[in-house]
Amino acid sequence: MNITLDADKCCAAGQCVLVAPEVFDQRDEDGIVVLLDAAPPADQHDAVREAAAICPAAVIKVDE
Ligand code: SF4
Repeated sequence: MNITLDADKCCAAGQCVLVAPEVFDQRDEDGIVVLLDAAPPADQHDAVREAAAICPAAVIKVDE
């Protein structure tokens, strides 16, 4: 799994951080998403897929 972000589109909603806090974080100053792990281990994959699915701005792209 490889994750890429289009952070310019991020609306700082934070859903991704709630679902997969080991993979996503938010910048302190403006809440924009930060990718902690672009190639997370298998036990994170379901959470990452869910984060991508619920992101309101379609920021998270997942290549399996
Ligand atoms: S869920 Fe999407 S819009 Fe919200 S913080 Fe995460 S990447 Fe940004």
